[in-house]
Amino acid sequence: MEALRGVVDPELEMDIVTLGMVRSVAIDHGSVSVVIALTSESCPLVGRIKGEAESALEKLQGVSSVVVETAVMNDEERSAIIEKLKERRKTLPMPGKLPKQGIKRILAILSGKGGVGKSSVTSMLAVEMQRRGLKVGILDADITGPSIPKIFGVSEVPFVLEGKIIPATSSKGIKIISMNLLIGKEETPVVWRGPLVSSAIRQFYTDVDWGELDYLLVDLPPGTSDAQLTVLQLLPVDGIVVVTSPQELAGVIVAKAVQMSRMLSVPIVGVLENMSYVKCPRCGEVIRLFGESRGRQMAEQINAPFLGSLPIDPDLSASCDRGKIEEYRNGAFEEVASKLLS
Ligand SMILES: [Zn+2]
Repeated sequence: MEALRGVVDPELEMDIVTLGMVRSVAIDHGSVSVVIALTSESCPLVGRIKGEAESALEKLQGVSSVVVETAVMNDEERSAIIEKLKERRKTLPMPGKLPKQGIKRILAILSGKGGVGKSSVTSMLAVEMQRRGLKVGILDADITGPSIPKIFGVSEVPFVLEGKIIPATSSKGIKIISMNLLIGKEETPVVWRGPLVSSAIRQFYTDVDWGELDYLLVDLPPGTSDAQLTVLQLLPVDGIVVVTSPQELAGVIVAKAVQMSRMLSVPIVGVLENMSYVKCPRCGEVIRLFGESRGRQMAEQINAPFLGSLPIDPDLSASCDRGKIEEYRNGAFEEVASKLLS
């Protein structure tokens, strides 16, 4: 165990023993076998941690063979590690974190893959917040999905005043910054690699004059890579909202949300299921095209509040297409927003 204290998880910047990642050590004469529990199967650092553990043990006197196996943390181990990170966060005021400025709460909106309608959900959450008298901004970092500016019918190119970028403003006063506004034509296909997206997110936060806001919603690109998550660590994010759809492979988004929550040491403040059902325009019957909703189950699995299910609504799509989302109303969105804000 002492030797393994030299193995540091580069992401969490703590050694694997302190983090409680060493699940077991078995010694049989000169043969040592160790099981290290990782936070997720897809942890990109598996090879590195395993290699370092092996070489640390091989160096020990009297050790003839070393086997290091990795496993995925169970719920208990996972909550223990989150507690540990929270503790550390209290003692060390993250030096790298950017200042909060005049923004009260920052929420990152996450989805597992594209096509779950995340941008329209983010937009509607902003609209519902604005309707409740809150000051809201959207940092649109989802350059692959339908664009937030288009949904709000905003096309003004942001300008620079006294070294700060002045964001676009929707007709009801929601502040918007988006790659699409800077690139110009929204049709331009944008193939941006992770590091570019990261620096754009960072700049959108630091260089934009957001003024006083109650909420800043950060609409993340789907399929969030580690590079994008890393830059989010710089932002003083308060919570993560997970948008899912019934067709999505639950495991993928669950792992990602947990990983992100761990990396940012912030809670998942809500899970909502989009495209959950269709309401018959004639009789109002609810038709669940993809079977029973699994959003609630998923929320329970990651110990987060379930905010509700949202319908597929042609009226919403039409409002988004026309840039008139601020005129759209739907009780389902009202409920979801109320739960999120409660
Ligand atoms: Zn009907």
